[in-house]
Amino acid sequence: MLLHDIVEHLETIAPLPYQESYDNAGLITGDRTSEISSALITLDVTEEVLDEAILKKCGMIISHHPLIFKAIKRITGYNEVERCLIKAIKHDIAIYAAHTNLDSITGGVNSKICEKIGLENCRILSPAKNQLIKLITYVPEDHTEKVREALFSAGAGVIGKYDKCSFSSKGTGTFRGSEGSNPFVGTKGNLHTEAEFRLETIVPRHLTAKVISALNRSHPYEEVAYDLVPLENDFSTVGAGMIGELHSPAEEIGFLNLVKERFGCQMIKHSVLLSRKFKKIAVCGGSGSFLISKAIAEGADLFISADFKYHDYFEAGKRIVLADLGHYESEQFTKEVLKEIILKKFPTFALHLSDVKTNPVSYL
Ligand SMILES: [Zn+2]
Repeated sequence: MLLHDIVEHLETIAPLPYQESYDNAGLITGDRTSEISSALITLDVTEEVLDEAILKKCGMIISHHPLIFKAIKRITGYNEVERCLIKAIKHDIAIYAAHTNLDSITGGVNSKICEKIGLENCRILSPAKNQLIKLITYVPEDHTEKVREALFSAGAGVIGKYDKCSFSSKGTGTFRGSEGSNPFVGTKGNLHTEAEFRLETIVPRHLTAKVISALNRSHPYEEVAYDLVPLENDFSTVGAGMIGELHSPAEEIGFLNLVKERFGCQMIKHSVLLSRKFKKIAVCGGSGSFLISKAIAEGADLFISADFKYHDYFEAGKRIVLADLGHYESEQFTKEVLKEIILKKFPTFALHLSDVKTNPVSYL
């Protein structure tokens, strides 16, 4: 299979436009047209991980954290990132990262954390904004189904757990073709009225070009009339963090100990316990401080994340319990997420989960 096939599939599930502005997710080294037969999945790319990839004959490393975050002006082997790059290119190993785009999707990093701690009724904690576009177009009656299906096939019409969502209403279109036109119905130079359907659906912003191209291909008119209207709606299935509920409320210390055990944490740092049971729980793999106020606003009793600072614990006050698992610990199951995503489409592709514990933090 081509490297391109894996990359394309990963980006269909976790589209690059969903990554944060500071991020560098995507293909970092490698030629998309090269053949590939196996990949190594890791949280971080280190020299040790590269050695493992070489040993296991993997032509690709798929990581959560991008190897390169900022511009590199020379590659001399001065630091670990440069040494990894040199080694990867020498051994023809492609490096790919699915980072904040994988954090953002339902079924990504945070869904896995919810699954590991047994949360139900999970939803995105802070849904993405400005990611949805309403498409309105006008189609002659007997072509409406064909156009509708083409739009759906290109990715339009998904709302939460539903797909193929659209609305159509009957009306009359008018047009007059100029001298150079070639109208599908009517004759040029004469005003024509046609029974049409006004067809409306919703499109994720990053698929707009693909959907419009499908519209133009499936629509019989020479000039296709359509409106693209940016929406203020939350994108309920994409965004930061997740929130869900325990089946039955859990006692604070007992539950934190259970999390500690499931995530193999040496310790959990937490804010003052509030002597009330946990029912609603927010989670965010990695650095989640930016979601504390959102977790409080959504009524979470506990927020599980990492990298909280001293003053974050004051912000929590008596409103929520913060639990810091450690960055690596909170995201460790991301390897499973990536594996499941790839095997769903390519069940026979050889995937290895890295045996290297790349956590750079140690505890005494
Ligand atoms: Zn991270």
